[in-house]
Amino acid sequence: MLETLKELGKLQAIDLEIKNLKEKEEKEKERLYEIGNKIKKIKEEEATFQNYLGLIETKKRQLENELKQMESDKEKSQEKAVRIKTDEEYHAILTEIETKKKIIGDLEEQILEIIEKLESTKKQHENPDGTLKDLETELQKIREALGDKQQDLHLQISNKAKEREAFTKHIPSDILSQYNLLITNRNGIAVVPCKDTICHGCFMGIPHQIYNQLKRGDKLHFCPSCQRFIYYYEFELSTMP
Ligand SMILES: [Zn+2]
Repeated sequence: MLETLKELGKLQAIDLEIKNLKEKEEKEKERLYEIGNKIKKIKEEEATFQNYLGLIETKKRQLENELKQMESDKEKSQEKAVRIKTDEEYHAILTEIETKKKIIGDLEEQILEIIEKLESTKKQHENPDGTLKDLETELQKIREALGDKQQDLHLQISNKAKEREAFTKHIPSDILSQYNLLITNRNGIAVVPCKDTICHGCFMGIPHQIYNQLKRGDKLHFCPSCQRFIYYYEFELSTMP
């Protein structure tokens, strides 16, 4: 029976290793997900920014066109002024030219404001840790490295699973199903030592009679409280990875 216990102990060590690897894999998955989200956010921010910049630039072009148009209108009025005969007409065209000059001045001012706005917006967008593009490249590199690590973990898990499968062939099926049930329900620990009548799985006491039988190692025993397989601590089974 001690042989079966030893095998169960080794199986538990393998299972704990698989459990650890799966937890690591889960963490890597979470990190990958986070990186993916960061990249997505950066792309969205960049798109929003470019869109905003595009709107300002369109407005600037609009004002520049208006300015050009107004300048040509003003020139036409000036040419007209030269050919005018009456004072009345001359006075009217001068007023017209003045109005156009004022509009031109306003437009030039608006264009200057918009150029300043463009420059300050671009400056604000500059990332102190480098451009958004650099950050995206950096994150992409991390993502690739995480992907490799995840693949490696996946391989390790599948190798361990094969090892486990080969190993379980030595264990009687009824004992194995009991063990499997315990592994699932007792947080991966099914085989525990017992010292001074104390079960080291749940730290409850076991009857002296069972404790004395444990020392003989000729029969499988279970903790009456947590139902785990228990063994006499001096047997020193390897139950941990
Ligand atoms: Zn117990």
